[in-house]
Amino acid sequence: MGLCPLHADRRPSFLVEPGKNLFYCYGCGRGGDVIRFAELYHGVRFTEALTVLWRWRGAGSLLEDVSKFYQIQLHCQTAARRYLAQRGVHQPEVIEQLRIGFAPGRCLGRWLPLLGHSRQALQQVGLLNDAGHDSFSQRIVFPLEANLYGRSIGKAAPHRLLPGGKGGLYSWEKVRSYPDLILVEGLFDLAVLWQAGFPNVTCALGNCR
Ligand SMILES: [Zn+2]
Repeated sequence: MGLCPLHADRRPSFLVEPGKNLFYCYGCGRGGDVIRFAELYHGVRFTEALTVLWRWRGAGSLLEDVSKFYQIQLHCQTAARRYLAQRGVHQPEVIEQLRIGFAPGRCLGRWLPLLGHSRQALQQVGLLNDAGHDSFSQRIVFPLEANLYGRSIGKAAPHRLLPGGKGGLYSWEKVRSYPDLILVEGLFDLAVLWQAGFPNVTCALGNCR
C-alpha cells in the first residue's frame, strides 16, 4: 500500500498485489493490471503502454525509438496524413515499409526519457535544440540509416537532417543488387515509385541541410 501515482494522494490508498500483478486505488477508484497502469500513468493507449513496459527492461537504440514514436504519431495526426496524401503517398504498406512518421513537436523531451534516454543524449544527437525544444516539429519523418530526414508540413524551412551522418544513397545495400536503378531527387518521389511497384529506386541524402 502506498501513495497513488495517478492522483494527488495524501494518505496511502494505492494497493498493489504483486503476486497477481494487479493494482487498485481506494482514492481514485482506478485499478487493473500492469498494462492498464502504464496506460494511465503515461496517458497512452494499449500498444504504446506495451512499448513503455518493454523499454523498462532497457533502452533501445535512440534513433530507433524516436522513429517508432514518430510512426505512432502519424496515425493520430490528420494534417500529416493529409500532407502525405497530397504528395501522392497513400498505401499503408509503403508507409509501413519506409517507416514514415510524423514529429508533432514539443513532446520528445517528455517521452524519450520514459524509454530510458536522457535529455542530454537527445541534445547531443540534435533531436532537442539548445533550448530543449524538439528540433523536428511539424515534420513528416523518414528514418535513414544513421539519421532522420524531416519534411516540414508548415512554414518552417522545408528540409531537415540531424547533424552528422549525412550523405549516401537511400537503402543502398538493398537496391545495389538490381541490374537497373532509378535515381530520384527525394524520398517522396521514392515512396511514390515504390507504391507504383518499382523497388529499384534510390535517392541522394546529402543534398539538404
Ligand atoms: Zn488514485
